[in-house]
Amino acid sequence: MRADYNQSIEDLSGVGKAVATRLKKLGVATIFDLITYFPFRYDDLSQITTIAQVKSGDIVTVKAKVQMIKNFRSPRKRMMITESLVKDQTASLKVVWFNQGFLTKVLEAGDSVYLSGKCELSQYGLQLVSPIFEKVRPDQIHTAGIIPIYSTTSNLTQKQLRFLIKKALPVTNSIIDWLPQPIQNKYRLTNLKTAYQQIHFPQNQKNLESARHRLKFDELFLIQLFALKNKQDLAKQKSPLVKFKEKETKAFVSKLPFKLTDAQRKAAWEILKDLAGGRPMNRLLEGDVGSGKTITAVIAVINCFLNGFQSVLMAPTEILARQHYDNIKKLLQKKLKVAILTRAHFETNLRSSVTKKELIGLISDGAINFVIGTHALIEGEINFHNLGLAIVDEQHRFGVAQRKKLKSQSKDELLPHLLSMTATPIPRSLALAIYGDLDLSIIDQLPSGRKKIITKIVQPEKRDETYKFIDDQIKAGRQIFVVCPLIDPSDKLGVKAVTTEYKKLDQQIFPELIIGLLHGKLKPKDKDKVMQDFSDNKINILVSTSVVEVGIDIPNATVMMIEGAERFGLAQLHQFRGRIGRDRHQSYCFLFTENETAKTLDRLEALVASQNGFELAEKDLQFRGPGEIYGIRQSGYLDLKIATLSDHQIIQEAREAAQKSIKQLDKFSLLSKKIAQFGQDIHLE
Ligand code: ADP
Ligand code: MG
Repeated sequence: MRADYNQSIEDLSGVGKAVATRLKKLGVATIFDLITYFPFRYDDLSQITTIAQVKSGDIVTVKAKVQMIKNFRSPRKRMMITESLVKDQTASLKVVWFNQGFLTKVLEAGDSVYLSGKCELSQYGLQLVSPIFEKVRPDQIHTAGIIPIYSTTSNLTQKQLRFLIKKALPVTNSIIDWLPQPIQNKYRLTNLKTAYQQIHFPQNQKNLESARHRLKFDELFLIQLFALKNKQDLAKQKSPLVKFKEKETKAFVSKLPFKLTDAQRKAAWEILKDLAGGRPMNRLLEGDVGSGKTITAVIAVINCFLNGFQSVLMAPTEILARQHYDNIKKLLQKKLKVAILTRAHFETNLRSSVTKKELIGLISDGAINFVIGTHALIEGEINFHNLGLAIVDEQHRFGVAQRKKLKSQSKDELLPHLLSMTATPIPRSLALAIYGDLDLSIIDQLPSGRKKIITKIVQPEKRDETYKFIDDQIKAGRQIFVVCPLIDPSDKLGVKAVTTEYKKLDQQIFPELIIGLLHGKLKPKDKDKVMQDFSDNKINILVSTSVVEVGIDIPNATVMMIEGAERFGLAQLHQFRGRIGRDRHQSYCFLFTENETAKTLDRLEALVASQNGFELAEKDLQFRGPGEIYGIRQSGYLDLKIATLSDHQIIQEAREAAQKSIKQLDKFSLLSKKIAQFGQDIHLE
């Protein structure tokens, strides 16, 4: 039977249950997954050196004939040594491998082989040490070429992966290229089949470059076309007409305990204009930590209410939902009937006590105007009475499908407006290119009167002093965050692990204080408990991994101590810092490093110097390069396989092509299908 793309990898001969399980760990379940499991780098072993030219210290590839091969045990170390003598037309060379006794079964005298490895001068003369070997065949995949290196786990070798991919590649022979020919011609793109083959086993650098170009283009083109398609589809739909109630809005704003910033006013105005348009709003509200996105969104909620519509706000965690609820309840002063509904918590300002079932009833009757919860809200069986607006806080994969779910729960046929909020600073130009379907509002200004957070890079010898400082803060009633890069100790990396650090603080440094531990591997229930205890000031110091990054508000916390700070991006460090300085107390961010190169210090100095998320995001791009820009990867905003956000030229071309194609999608049926499939894939996650 001929294998095809969608078949499971187990249908590929040579893949048994065990290998399939290992592949699945890499996210590879189908043959198509395997083919799109691209190398992350290549070793260029295409230069063949003659043995006579080989010098000590060189990394070389030679093509030679095995003269003899044998195993013996080293007398002292009891190690198995395989020794071989190989010869080409110029000279012969000794080869050794360690603890690979099976080699004498694989290779024998007379075999022609390629050997790639390092040459060293030993007491026995020049020898090739532990080279990669491959018998000479019509097509080499491990040596004598530009050799793909994949990211893999220890129980799946590079050789295995190459072997399997090589085996799977013939399915691309029957591939149908979905990218319209005119686009391929215009942007000089290689065809898909060639691209898949050459990305794994490139014949030369030029072919590799073409393959990369084509596959990057595909990725960026599909993202942008999908966004445009989404925008086009939305423009045909209807949403609740929410008129701007000027008088009431002004009255509400004037009673706030603070004055809105100009940036908040502008963003609120953009949102209100969308709501009054009758078409679904699809807007991203971006603003630095503490810039006041919530109140901006609440202004929209009030207008929905005044027009007779409900609103919902979904937070990424239970604890954040609770914080939103407490804050919003205060802000709204009983004007609106507000409720919180999560897995474990249900409450409303409509009455003093309520069961979950009753609350669900009140929501579907329309007695509740504004529901706050986690994303579980769209999975539950809640029927809104007439939902006008859905607000999503710090969750980026909220797509068309989820939104439709909200609609189907709602009793009328109108699609609710959508407002996404994020503190991830994505520069406008980039956001427009990649999220063409989202309109963008940016709050680029912090409320005045905020105290600057004092940020310092702390020298190792000042560690004790810092602990003393922390102790004083706690004596004054404050609380402390300590952030570490990893969960478990990793000797290899020598980085601070959260569990070790927790023990150290708990047992040695502050035995009399209460220390909490938070990391991603805790059960959600336990995580919530720790956060709640910290929030209730039952914990003095919270030791955590980067999970504290998102939104949690502990106004009483005044110190953010970050271990291994060089391991985080600037945007992410800035997010951590945003966890403190939320009240009148002066707050401090202390950065500790484990590796003090000039570059590290330079980068961290940027954090000391700037308190502006957008500025820091730009710096991230300069310092860290394309891989991790803007912390977008962590935030899940964009999951690029091969393209990067610094592929400006390709982003531009793909955008141009997407804008043209969207107008003629009916002409390109393959592309239409592809884009529909793409939409399903990204929303299944
Ligand atoms: P974020 O944008 O990080 O979600 P929040 O909406 O939680 O920020 O606002 C942070 C804090 O700032 C809240 O306590 C909020 O009440 C307050 N706040 C919002 N806008 C202003 C303003 N214009 N002036 C002063 N404080 C404000
Ligand atoms: Mg927020």
